[in-house]
Amino acid sequence: MSSSPGRGTTLKPMPGTYTAVEVSAPSELRVVERRVAEPGPGQVRIRVEACGVCHSDSATVEGLFPIDWPRVPGHEAVGRIDALGPGVQGWAVGQRVGVGFLGGSCGYCEFCRNGDLVNCRNQEFTGVQSDGGYAEVMIAKATGLMRIPDDLSSAGAAPLLCAGLTTFSALRNAPAKAGELVAVLGIGGLGHLGVQYARHMGFEVAAIGRGTGSAELAKKLGAHHYIDSAASDPAAALQALGGAKVILITASGGKTLAATFKGLRPGGISIDLGVGPEPIEITSMDLIFGERKVAGSLTGNPATGDATLRFSALSGVSAMIETVPLEQAAEAYARMMGGKARFRIMLVTKDGISRQTSVSS
Ligand SMILES: [Zn+2]
Ligand SMILES: [Zn+2]
Repeated sequence: MSSSPGRGTTLKPMPGTYTAVEVSAPSELRVVERRVAEPGPGQVRIRVEACGVCHSDSATVEGLFPIDWPRVPGHEAVGRIDALGPGVQGWAVGQRVGVGFLGGSCGYCEFCRNGDLVNCRNQEFTGVQSDGGYAEVMIAKATGLMRIPDDLSSAGAAPLLCAGLTTFSALRNAPAKAGELVAVLGIGGLGHLGVQYARHMGFEVAAIGRGTGSAELAKKLGAHHYIDSAASDPAAALQALGGAKVILITASGGKTLAATFKGLRPGGISIDLGVGPEPIEITSMDLIFGERKVAGSLTGNPATGDATLRFSALSGVSAMIETVPLEQAAEAYARMMGGKARFRIMLVTKDGISRQTSVSS
């Protein structure tokens, strides 16, 4: 599916108000009308077309982070720039852009000055400290924006801004070379993209899941091997394949990392992407003899986001999605949290729906 050109698109005049879904108190999502605001210095205003419902949204909805209520969640937003704030350069009205979890770096802290934008000390999290994409309109910092290629639909691109970027960036920065064994643990929102990226990056890919239910899907996504962690010891199964150079942990829980750690070959690394309170119990013996490593990886910088989107468009990697109208966000969120969403749920706005119809006709 192709979309209309990235630049120079004329937008309908902005009405005075827009629909948003905000969290007014822990676990209370409600549909509200808000007044349209002007973007401040360094910010852009975006007409949102689609926004993914991600498990990390629970940090806002359940109030796990300190939240200044009310707050609009959502950090997988795609839309068109509608207005540029003072001082914004390099972006144009009508251009289709994406906003991920990291809300934009400051440019002046020690980490920014060293080129480490992910760890900027003055960066807000989208949908946590600033309003996110469960809305028809959002305001975002220009330094956090990503470019959406014309050959990706808005709903198709949105999950790549968080689940896609997180797995792509971790694999791209990992030490594995083409042909080496890379394992992806978990075949959910992150893992089903991780398996596809690993395959298209040229690795031998082992997918690890619980039970036989995901075996067929894993193979379809490009895994060469499927390991059922309920039926066999996943570490032994990886060693039988020669040992993994990289294990990507996409499920939360320290136990899953520990249970697969011995499946690493010497010099291998286990990269944790799933946040959880559980400690990771591995022995110093297993760490030292074989010089194995454990690391965490936090999403990625905007340029890597651009690369994620381009790579996905070129290789045909895509998220499995279902779309629902923005107004049904509360129900969609509950379904995702209850593990009942078969695919990644995308909230689409009226702008998103009208553009979808206009491009597919
Ligand atoms: Zn996310
Ligand atoms: Zn900074």
